[in-house]
Amino acid sequence: MVALAWFAISCGSREKTATRNDRLDSIAREYVNLGLSIGQFDGDFVDAYYGPDSLRPAKADTLQFPKDAFLRKAAALKTALTAFKTGTGQDTLARRAQWLTAQLTAFERRIHLFSGTVVPFDSESKDLFDAVAPTHDEKHFQDLIAKLDRLLPGKGPIPERYQKLASHFLIPQNKIDTVFRTAIAEARKRTLAHYVLPAGEDFKLEYVHDKPWSGYNWYKGNYKSVIQINVSQPIYIERAIDLACHEGYPGHHVYNALLEKNLFRDKGWTEISLYPLFSPQSLIAEGSANYGISMAFPGNEQREFCKNVLIPLAGLDTAMTDAYFEALTIRSALNYARNEVARGLLDRGMSDQEAQRWLTDYCLLPEKGASDYLRFIRKYRSYVINYNYGQDIIKNYIESQGGTAAEPDKRWKLFEVLLSNENEAGDLLKK
Ligand SMILES: [Zn+2]
Repeated sequence: MVALAWFAISCGSREKTATRNDRLDSIAREYVNLGLSIGQFDGDFVDAYYGPDSLRPAKADTLQFPKDAFLRKAAALKTALTAFKTGTGQDTLARRAQWLTAQLTAFERRIHLFSGTVVPFDSESKDLFDAVAPTHDEKHFQDLIAKLDRLLPGKGPIPERYQKLASHFLIPQNKIDTVFRTAIAEARKRTLAHYVLPAGEDFKLEYVHDKPWSGYNWYKGNYKSVIQINVSQPIYIERAIDLACHEGYPGHHVYNALLEKNLFRDKGWTEISLYPLFSPQSLIAEGSANYGISMAFPGNEQREFCKNVLIPLAGLDTAMTDAYFEALTIRSALNYARNEVARGLLDRGMSDQEAQRWLTDYCLLPEKGASDYLRFIRKYRSYVINYNYGQDIIKNYIESQGGTAAEPDKRWKLFEVLLSNENEAGDLLKK
């Protein structure tokens, strides 16, 4: 009652907006605190945090995961957010409230998962990443493989012929550092031709062993990243550009730096200082990082840069480059087979042996790559859709709304807006 009376007497609409802003900011801080609290138990929950130390929870006084308390807190925050979701899609508070609500739905799903309660693959990905990836049967992948059959030199099983072709483009261990530094410098140069990045942005490059992924960006805040490359897996020449763009420019490093600059530093939106890995933000992150390769190296430019610069730098022969890159285009469409392996393993009782067959025959992974990918699926589950379906969502959005390939500035601009705001897959699919 007291609050109502106060509103009636004193509120001009500006003050009212300020109050609503303060209230949303306060919910955002509670959201961050909840995420960091869950992260005290679930070691994969928080991918990055660079917000105030005051929001870090005190050390948990129990080893028991407080599932119900966390679920109650998430539900309470979602209820509080409903009051802000009445504006139009353009209203900033409504937009933030919608994004926070989707992120909290992901918190709830991850809390259940971490407690051992699973739901079907598509329900899981919908709650965690705001997207359900299309399904493809085995025939779809067999048809793509048949196209490769016509393209690959030699006779015999296609995975072996693909591996043989790829082996010409394996970067020797002693050239990995030179090739990666050159690829990252080029990706950075191409990104800086379009963007002004925050002063002081920088990254550290590290080589690591025996991880379930090929590369990782650990964002540290203050526009700094640590980019790790897993050198236990064979690294083929195109991966230098893939990873340079995906982990660095204009991928994860640029995405995180733009969010920090535009939303956290300039607008004071605390929620963005926490990056929860299993959340709708990850589909945008992985999708834009993968599509970022085509932003920086459109058309045949990746092939040309490899042929003219990276392949000679690695001391390799350029003779088969065109055939190899044609094969890579088909291999990229085959990436959707990874979703079917994850669906199969998590939902449909697919055996490890059958999964290994799919990964070898359709994803064309070498044996070590296939076993690492099985580890990846066990750990990250429906996260796998963020790479391929996420990439297609971002590609369709940029290419339908951002002009033609002949207008690269327009595309870079729209991509920058995407990287500088809170979005979910569902929003982009509606546009
Ligand atoms: Zn990534």
